[in-house]
Amino acid sequence: MTSERELDLLIEELLADRQYDGHPLREALYLKHQQSLDQLARLERIARISDGFQSMARAQNSTLSERYHKQLRQLEKVARISDRYQDMMRDLNLALKEASTHDTLTGIANRRLLMERLREESERAQRRNEPYVLAMLDVDRFKQVNDTWGHEVGDRVLVEIGRAMEAALRQYDLCGRWGGEEFLLILPQTRLSDAAAIIERVRSDIRCLAVRIGTEALSVTASFGVAEHKPGETYSQTLSRADAALLEAKRSGRDKCEFAAV
Ligand code: GH3
Ligand code: MG
Ligand code: MG
Repeated sequence: MTSERELDLLIEELLADRQYDGHPLREALYLKHQQSLDQLARLERIARISDGFQSMARAQNSTLSERYHKQLRQLEKVARISDRYQDMMRDLNLALKEASTHDTLTGIANRRLLMERLREESERAQRRNEPYVLAMLDVDRFKQVNDTWGHEVGDRVLVEIGRAMEAALRQYDLCGRWGGEEFLLILPQTRLSDAAAIIERVRSDIRCLAVRIGTEALSVTASFGVAEHKPGETYSQTLSRADAALLEAKRSGRDKCEFAAV
C-alpha cells in the first residue's frame, strides 16, 4: 500500500510534469492538493495556540502561594550551589596556603614560613623587649647516609627528624626545613638558659631515632648552633651567630649543641 509520504511525492511529481499541463484533471488535483496543505497549516497553528493557552492557564491557575513557593525552591537551589562553591574555594585556599608554607617532603614549615615567623618574632622582640632563641640544626655526615643507603632512605630520615622535632618542641615553638638537611628552630619568649634543655631534648630524640631498613635500623645524630636575640640586633644577625655556633659544634666533634655568647 502506498504510504502518505509516497502519495504526496507522486502528486508533486504529476503536478510538476509538463506533459499534463492544461489537463482538466491536473487542475482539479492541484486545487485538491493546495486544499490539503492549507488544512494542515491551519491544524498546526491551532495546536500551537492551544499548547500556549494550556501552559498560560496552568500558570494562572496556580495560586500566589504556589508561585511564591516555587520561586523559593529555586532560590534555595541557587543558595545550595553557592554554598558548595564557597566550601570548595575555602578548601582550595587552605590547600594552596598549606602548599606554599610547608615543605613537601617532611610536611613541616618551609623556609618561607620560617622567614615570616622570624620577621614577626623580631618585631615582637622590638616592641615588647622580649627575648627569643634561634637554633640551627644540621644532620651529621648525612652525605654518608645517602651514599650508603640511598637517597630514598635519606629522605625517610629527614621525615623522621621533622616528626621528632615537632614532638619535642612546645606548642608555640616553630621548627622548619631551612634547606637540604638543615633545620631551623624558633623558640619565642625564651632565654638561652631555658632553651638549653629544650634543644638538648630535641638532640637526644633525634639520636634515639631508629629508621628501619629491612631488618636493620639506622641512627643519625645532629649538631646545633644556638643564639639568643640581642636587643637592637636584626634577625639576620642572630641567625649568623647561630650559624657560627653550628660551625663550632661541627668543628669540635658533632652530635652536640654550641651556644653563642649572649
Ligand atoms: P656534616 O656533618 O659536615 O654536615 O656532613 P654532611 O655529609 O651532612 O654535609 P654535606 O653538606 O657534605 O652533605 C649534605 C648532604 O645532604 C648532601 C645532599 O645530597 C644531602 N641532601 C640535601 N637535601 C637532601 C634531600 O632532600 N634528601 C636527601 N636524601 N639528601 C639530601
Ligand atoms: Mg649541611
Ligand atoms: Mg650535614
